[in-house]
Amino acid sequence: MRRIAFVAVATLLALDARPLAQPRSRVVMLGTGTPNADPDRYGPSVAVVVDNASYLVDFGVGVVRRAAAAERAGIKALAAPNLTLAFATHLHSDHTLGLADLILTPWILERATPLTLYGPRGLRAMTNHLVDAYADDLRIRTRGGEPKHQHDPRLVHVHEITPGVVYRDERVTVTAFAVKHGAWEQAFGYRFQTPDRTIVISGDTGPDSHLEDQCQRCDVLVHEVYSEAGFSKRPPEWQAYHSRYHTSSRQLGAIAARAKPGLLVLYHQLIWSSTEDELLKEVRSAYDGKVVSAHDLDVY
Ligand SMILES: [Zn+2]
Ligand SMILES: [Zn+2]
Repeated sequence: MRRIAFVAVATLLALDARPLAQPRSRVVMLGTGTPNADPDRYGPSVAVVVDNASYLVDFGVGVVRRAAAAERAGIKALAAPNLTLAFATHLHSDHTLGLADLILTPWILERATPLTLYGPRGLRAMTNHLVDAYADDLRIRTRGGEPKHQHDPRLVHVHEITPGVVYRDERVTVTAFAVKHGAWEQAFGYRFQTPDRTIVISGDTGPDSHLEDQCQRCDVLVHEVYSEAGFSKRPPEWQAYHSRYHTSSRQLGAIAARAKPGLLVLYHQLIWSSTEDELLKEVRSAYDGKVVSAHDLDVY
């Protein structure tokens, strides 16, 4: 009798702990870097994970290894064979240097289905060039004695998109929206509507892209940023570039004050000679909501 009572209490405790612990949707910061070769920040890549499915936004350098690190930390949706779907914000090299990795490495690691990509004009040509560049590798791996692979890696489904709903399945609706990123003809941010959260990712953007229209009290706004203190010490020609292509800390504070996200996540931080604490202070001078400065492999 006493033993049955113990089991019942243990079961109740387990039931109690389970549903609150984990949201169905999580944002995993695979890479928070920029073109600068910071050894602590890999190239930009954010994974939206819903249950056992993953959706990548951008594929900067190191993307597959960062995904493997997240898998090792318990996020099974980021195991290499699950990396089947990715959305490119724009074709700047820092956001796309991992494309060959994303095409080839999970294929070698027994991904069962071909990779599918969404992104701006030029993504198809970039994909085709990379597949061509690795022609000898592909020939040796498919005919040189490696165990048989599950699909032909030359087959990548590429969708060159325009703003609007670009993808939908039973877990997410993904909407692409145009952002202003200097001279790029096409650059996108993405909004993910999942069963339990709305997640907005800016990609690289100047300050006039109306991110507040996309977020509107969204749960998580992941946004690029540069430090105003660091900027003030940059050479004038670089200042002209940064102010046209990117969003300063105080500009972002003002955007977030209008967008009212549940959580503002800073990534692609250009800090230069300043500090992360200073960067956060600058954002907070214009925004009193919750804000964090992300590092690689943070999960929100
Ligand atoms: Zn960038
Ligand atoms: Zn860029």
